[in-house]
Amino acid sequence: MISFPHPNPEDPTELETYLDAFRCQRRRAAAGEEEDDDQGKCGGAVVSTDALDFEADFRCGRCGHRTPRAVLEKVEDQIGESLEEADKNDREAMELLLEVASPLLHSSNYLILQVK
Ligand SMILES: [Zn+2]
Repeated sequence: MISFPHPNPEDPTELETYLDAFRCQRRRAAAGEEEDDDQGKCGGAVVSTDALDFEADFRCGRCGHRTPRAVLEKVEDQIGESLEEADKNDREAMELLLEVASPLLHSSNYLILQVK
């Protein structure tokens, strides 16, 4: 785990919690819930079921859908790689990256915080 300096110390507890959080990709129709975003996905914050266990699955705080850690690690790796390759001074490239990453990562995920 690499740690990054806190960009926003306002609410350290919440930031800590969601630093490694994703967005739930479960389609709401399948979850039997009302759709409230244009992509029809749950979008709830997906966080580790056990912060101390690095093998633990991730779970959506909204619908309870579980996602294996390996799946999320792959997502994170891909976005992290794109971020490394991108020119951070290129506003357009950064916005594009954010557009790709936003539906997948929680807005407080450390990768998103780096792009912003
Ligand atoms: Zn969910």
